[in-house]
Amino acid sequence: MKTAVHTENLIIGAGVSGLALASRLKAGSYLILEKEREAGGYCRTFYAGEFVWDYAGHFFHFSQQQLRRRFAPFLQSGDNVYNHKRTLIFYRGRYVDYPFQFNICQLDKEEFIDCLCGLFEGRGGEAPANFKEMLYAKFGVPIAEKFLIPYNEKLYSCDLNELDIDAMGHFFPKAEPAEIIRHFRGEKIGTYNDTFFYSAKGAAAFVEELLKEVDAGSLRLGRQVERILPDRQVAVAGDLEVHYRRLISTMPFPRLLSMCGLPHRASYTSNKVLIFNLGFDAPPEDRTVHWIYYPDPDLVFYRVGFYNNILHRDKMSLYVEIGLPEDARVRPEDWFDRVLCDLKKAGLVTAHKLLAWNCVLMDPAYVHISAESQREKEQLKARLAQEHIHTIGRYGDWKYCSIEDCVAQAYQLGERLAAGSAREEAIT
Ligand SMILES: Cc1cc2nc3c(=O)[nH]c(=O)nc-3n(C[C@H](O)[C@H](O)[C@H](O)COP(=O)(O)OP(=O)(O)OC[C@H]3O[C@@H](n4cnc5c(N)ncnc54)[C@H](O)[C@@H]3O)c2cc1C
Repeated sequence: MKTAVHTENLIIGAGVSGLALASRLKAGSYLILEKEREAGGYCRTFYAGEFVWDYAGHFFHFSQQQLRRRFAPFLQSGDNVYNHKRTLIFYRGRYVDYPFQFNICQLDKEEFIDCLCGLFEGRGGEAPANFKEMLYAKFGVPIAEKFLIPYNEKLYSCDLNELDIDAMGHFFPKAEPAEIIRHFRGEKIGTYNDTFFYSAKGAAAFVEELLKEVDAGSLRLGRQVERILPDRQVAVAGDLEVHYRRLISTMPFPRLLSMCGLPHRASYTSNKVLIFNLGFDAPPEDRTVHWIYYPDPDLVFYRVGFYNNILHRDKMSLYVEIGLPEDARVRPEDWFDRVLCDLKKAGLVTAHKLLAWNCVLMDPAYVHISAESQREKEQLKARLAQEHIHTIGRYGDWKYCSIEDCVAQAYQLGERLAAGSAREEAIT
């Protein structure tokens, strides 16, 4: 027996996108269904005694004026720390500043000259057709093969030829050779996350902030949408049958397509990221680094971050990120010994004693953006919009983006819906 419910706006998912959207709508005009027992999506936090862990570090870097103003009281509250990012690459047993391509002058003389020559050679040929070709064309063979390709292959767990040139958008640190040379002389090239905030309460603190503007009675946790009937404007979640005027989904785009029975040609693949959070009894050797990149294929992780350095605490508290293919069968316990062994190999764990740990799987984590999937996605979004369905967020819109981007997109759609001026078309 189903219980029928009617709402103007049905929001699927209470991650940052769904919550930010709801905060722009009138109380009573929406219903949020979230499959988990807790709101936040990937911005959730675990508390293990004195250790505070996220789904991998989730740091706040608000660059848009409007959002910086909106969240200023939260960001400047006592729980938040502000950091000037310090990140390194563990390259052939020593450390080089990140990004590699801007800091080749820190390599041995021979490797430096090799990279420098590569940076200037072979430019102006045919336009690159995919991500891997872009790496070769923009930075030359040595830089591409020493860091950019091995690192990104570990992260994405796919053939980089299959990714679009712009698969990482503004998150990829690009610069012209002349700027790189000026960088050697101290003229810094900015990247999107040069500074960032983080809360002593973890990423969940940001979700708490968003929840302040959401009508608690309109948020139903532990409710997974299983079916959507677009022609009837109905979604089904267990014994609930929700009749909506508009549906706004933040669940992964391919899942929405299959629920709506919308056929597609492009493949919408992604990687998985397995995260180990580890708390130790003693400080790390380097008390200033925020995270380190590992291109070496012999080390299982591609990145390790230091929560304790970010929060200015003593005991080493790490997040360790492992990129895996979409079809990998993952049993976290199979990876635990290897992670500890490789942390020792990398010199991060020495005489440290492990006090606490946990493990989470992010699936999907990094979506594989191809030129074909991007093109088709826009057409499919337009078709969905005709059926009063919008799809937003990192996974809803199947893209590489930050918390800030998700909030900005959700606000934009929310304001249009609230004003009643929503043209029934996909939001780009
Ligand atoms: C390894 C990694 C590190 C990152 N680090 C950062 C960082 O430092 N800073 C930053 O700004 N961003 C970071 N991000 C990006 C950030 O996680 C996302 O941009 C953001 O959390 C996405 O929010 P969302 O609401 O769009 O999606 P999600 O967080 O995925 O929320 C979607 C929600 O929908 C729910 N849902 C799904 N299907 C259903 C269903 N059928 N029925 C009901 N509910 C459903 C899910 O349970 C979930 O709660 C990182 C991402 C990754 C992968």
